[in-house]
Amino acid sequence: KPVLGIESSCDETGVAVYDLKAGLLAHRLYSQVRLHAEYGGVVPELASRDHVRKLLPMVRETLAAAQLRVDDLGGVAYTAGPGLIGALLVGASAARALAWSLDVPAIGVHHMEGHLLAPLLEADPPKPPFVALLVSGGHSMLIAVEAIGRYRLLGDTLDDAAGEAFDKTAKLMGLPYPGGPELARMAQLGTSGRFRFSRPMTDRPGLDFSFSGLKTQVLLAWQQSDQTDATRADIARGFEEAMVDTLRIKCLRALDTTGARSLVIAGGVGANRRLRQQLDEAARRHGFRVYFPRPEFCTDNGAMIALAGALRLAAGQGDSTAIHVMPRWDLESLGPLDGEPAA
Ligand code: ATP
Ligand code: MG
Ligand code: FE
Repeated sequence: KPVLGIESSCDETGVAVYDLKAGLLAHRLYSQVRLHAEYGGVVPELASRDHVRKLLPMVRETLAAAQLRVDDLGGVAYTAGPGLIGALLVGASAARALAWSLDVPAIGVHHMEGHLLAPLLEADPPKPPFVALLVSGGHSMLIAVEAIGRYRLLGDTLDDAAGEAFDKTAKLMGLPYPGGPELARMAQLGTSGRFRFSRPMTDRPGLDFSFSGLKTQVLLAWQQSDQTDATRADIARGFEEAMVDTLRIKCLRALDTTGARSLVIAGGVGANRRLRQQLDEAARRHGFRVYFPRPEFCTDNGAMIALAGALRLAAGQGDSTAIHVMPRWDLESLGPLDGEPAA
């Protein structure tokens, strides 16, 4: 039976219905960016309140789009963490209450497992073992995926996440919040080679990342420049090339280290066009396969949560009726589908 998925960990309300046999039946997304733009970042309490306003109407809309009634649902999945506690509690409470009233199981999904499994929403999905690059607003991780649910952290960021670096770099060149996607658009217009920034931590062994130095290099270049639109685009281009090169080098290294022949890219930065082109090209050259979610499922969405939850519910997992969220939650602590239920 179809599973309803609810995402509310940060500033996107996402709702979807996914069926393991029929696939994705419907999905809806509402982004709060305009609400938070005047503050230059997400305001947690405003985020919680807006989830309260949007969630139930969106559940109704999504069910209608899937031509389902609420009692057609076989389970409810929601993001239980990591994320903003108030925002998480809105999704968790609604999901738990709905599941309880329908007498179906509910399951709390790890937001990053959702991102990681998003490529499974596409045709010809990847099969473990594979390496996953998770690059989002809050994380930059390389993960060895031995099975769904069995995750080994290969590398992590020592400071800023990749998406955070995009956003902060955009901000310091005067672009409005959230600047990452806008910076990427400008980079397309910029001239390659006018600004060259370093590829952090690629000159030494290991799979960790560090992006705060890159941000500082951009700040200096910007301050010393004529600050015209053309220069901003050229700097954006230099930044994006450094970022994408760094991610590509580390992905190749992770494939070497693990012997895996498949690579999954997920998280908001996975929507980046240069990153997708460069990794497609690397895959052809080095003979591995690369899998991406469609760009709209790289950033936060309900579909990835419905899918991850459907897999765990089908394996018999589904936790107690308590409303429990985890603002911080270690991905490696999740169990495989046939193991003990997570948390
Ligand atoms: P997390 O998943 O770690 O909790 P999050 O949910 O806020 O963080 P996502 O929604 O996965 O993150 O992704 C948002 C991030 O992706 C932002 O930092 C944004 O700048 C970045 N991003 C989105 N599109 C692009 C793009 N085309 N190029 C580069 N970065 C992008
Ligand atoms: Mg967001
Ligand atoms: Fe996310």
